[in-house]
Amino acid sequence: MPTTHAAYAAPAATSPLGPLSISRRDPGPTDVAMEILFCGVCHSDLHFARNEWGFTAYPCVPGHEIVGRVKAVGAKVTRFKVGQTVAVGCMVDSCRECAACREGLENYCEKGSTFTYNSPDRFGAGPHTFGGYSTAMTVDQAFVLSVPETLDPAGAAPLLCAGITTYSPLRHWKVGRGTRVGVVGLGGLGHMALKLAHAMGAEVTLFTTSPGKAEDARRLGAHNIVISRDEAQMGKAANSLDFIVNTVSASHDLNPLMNCLRRDGAMCLVGAPEHPHPPINVMGLIFQRRSLAGSLIGGIRETQEMLDFCGKHKIVSDIERIPMQKINEAYERMLRSDVRYRFVIDLASLKS
Ligand code: NAP
Ligand code: ZN
Ligand code: ZN
Repeated sequence: MPTTHAAYAAPAATSPLGPLSISRRDPGPTDVAMEILFCGVCHSDLHFARNEWGFTAYPCVPGHEIVGRVKAVGAKVTRFKVGQTVAVGCMVDSCRECAACREGLENYCEKGSTFTYNSPDRFGAGPHTFGGYSTAMTVDQAFVLSVPETLDPAGAAPLLCAGITTYSPLRHWKVGRGTRVGVVGLGGLGHMALKLAHAMGAEVTLFTTSPGKAEDARRLGAHNIVISRDEAQMGKAANSLDFIVNTVSASHDLNPLMNCLRRDGAMCLVGAPEHPHPPINVMGLIFQRRSLAGSLIGGIRETQEMLDFCGKHKIVSDIERIPMQKINEAYERMLRSDVRYRFVIDLASLKS
């Protein structure tokens, strides 16, 4: 018998989020059932809740930066035990057979990953998967992560999306000691990119539209700060960087940023705005053999590697804890860039 749990959902694109009861399946042989303790608030949750990408299924229970405590495990579960602190990120399953899955890149599953929310639910507990704005969930052990004991569980929650989404391209483009890295946008993803790139030994430049964030940016690991709306500062940064990770959630002109890359440099887009960016200037790419790329979260193996890296370097997110009931206000504040730097929902607020 599936069990019923409290959750928060968007009933439609134009309605605020509110309470909803949802079902979770009983743990099968390879499942881990967990009580959710904390869930980070990603800008993707807002894009989904408001159908900004055009494929949201309602009711929508967002949340994919989940830290919880194991309540029960199936008979064949070997990697987790009751009471352990565990995490779930953006995926709960994939085909496990295609070339991408065999390489540990379940995020690029050729048959389509089962995302933590808004994916068809192959176990049939709901019409589609429901995310971490809820008190409990059941996930196959192959998609459950271990949280290093050295990390604060609430601060660790955002690592499951903001952390891995920036860690993966930094690794893929081989960022290390001395690499000149640009980070565009100082929000949830951007502040993790600063911390991670700094810990990898890079020389880090932040591009921001918010001059008031400069002091924080230095504390978070930026060596240089460029106000991206200041043409003179952008001109000075031209041809200076090996790699840029662009985390901006809204449409903006990419050309002045591309111009900051050196020959053979690459800019990787992880921000996924509702509306398209203005066209890219082809000459800017051709003349310096520059690349423009994209990247989607990260695979399970790499997510565990990132968590262990953060455990070793004592990296967590800078968070503001909120009760579930404040989520609509939090979305409005996130849109105004008024969060330093990630809201994390304390699910105790939905249990009382
Ligand atoms: P966030 O906390 O809201 O941060 C976004 C930042 O973008 C803001 O803090 C702001 O930084 C900057 N920004 C906002 N509007 C801007 C504008 N009009 N022009 C220039 N800069 C602007 O959001 P987030 O949670 O980090 O997510 C960022 C984006 O990544 C979202 O689109 C999200 O959906 C996407 N995402 C993608 C993946 C993936 O796998 N690719 C995973 C997670 C999230 P400043 O104040 O410093 O300018
Ligand atoms: Zn996310
Ligand atoms: Zn696959």
